[in-house]
Amino acid sequence: MDGVQSATSCPVFILLGPPGAGKGTQARMLEERFGYVQLSTGDLLRAAVAAGTEAGNAADAVMKAGGLVSDDIVIAILRDRLAQPDCTKGVILDGFPRTGAQAEALDTMLAETGQRINAAISLDVDDAAMVDRIAGRYTCGTCGEGYHDSFKRPTSDGICDKCGGTDMTRRADDTVEAVAARLEAYHAQTAPLISYYAGHDVLQRVGAMGSIDEIATTLGNVVKAAAA
Ligand code: ADP
Ligand code: ZN
Repeated sequence: MDGVQSATSCPVFILLGPPGAGKGTQARMLEERFGYVQLSTGDLLRAAVAAGTEAGNAADAVMKAGGLVSDDIVIAILRDRLAQPDCTKGVILDGFPRTGAQAEALDTMLAETGQRINAAISLDVDDAAMVDRIAGRYTCGTCGEGYHDSFKRPTSDGICDKCGGTDMTRRADDTVEAVAARLEAYHAQTAPLISYYAGHDVLQRVGAMGSIDEIATTLGNVVKAAAA
């Protein structure tokens, strides 16, 4: 990274797509490649649940059932995180915004600091494949690297390629029932944001049914072009 950037020049990217589309996997790859910070409201909420904060306690049951956590809670968590100094490197929003109210709150927050959205990138996938993707996935509990029973196994089973950790975890809401609820919430509340961002001239669409590396290449090109 070449020096400290002023707030006005920090790139802001949004990844849109249903659960299982690969937002988290791709956001981490973009973080590694471009030095941007991945901001996942799902991760922030899971950390709040684990820490037993007031927001975490309020969110816990809703998340397990696959519903959406209230806008107030999510917006407050995101606002705090965006104010951290590392975000001046640029951010990839993964899982936020998920409702019209969140999208408007984000626009207001960015306007306050003279920032703009470089691109809202929709990862386009078939719903039918999402359940398989989600049902097979797990994460290294030590460093957070994502794996999948069929699509991305570590070199040695049970041992994280990145950090050597052996504490692999599966999410509490990756059950068939919760996944169905999450897909439904996505279509009802989040998919309309695709036209919202098209109307703001920042929408980009990336086909996300290919391999992780193919998608990363296409997405990387879109990000690079929109970063300027
Ligand atoms: P996925 O995209 O695979 O569903 P996430 O980790 O992004 O996974 O989100 C997990 C859960 O956290 C969601 O089902 C929801 O309950 C909650 N959540 C995350 N981000 C938001 C948000 N922006 N608004 C409301 N709820 C959220
Ligand atoms: Zn690890």
